[in-house]
Amino acid sequence: MPTHGLPARWDRLGLDSEWMRHGACLARTDLPWTADAHQTSSPKRRAMAAVCADCPVLTRCAEFASRARMTGGFWAGTARDELLVARVQGPLASGDVGGAA
Ligand code: SF4
Repeated sequence: MPTHGLPARWDRLGLDSEWMRHGACLARTDLPWTADAHQTSSPKRRAMAAVCADCPVLTRCAEFASRARMTGGFWAGTARDELLVARVQGPLASGDVGGAA
């Protein structure tokens, strides 16, 4: 998702962003990289995931999105908002809820 003119707020974090010049998404501006999952269709998300799967900087993109705590957009094959929701709902979905029965 590094191609879309987002505010460079991560500059304050001291994270390297040079790798972004090599992102495969640079050539696919037809896809909604900055949209959250609910704003996109499943076919579009699958298309972006396929682009990411062949991206030469996939690992660095994933590390960056994690360290920068990205909460939206599509990074390294994943819609960040869906990833965060899954992390929050994971324990609930598996029945790991506190309280006495
Ligand atoms: S992994 Fe995906 S989002 Fe990240 S730079 Fe590559 S194509 Fe773009």
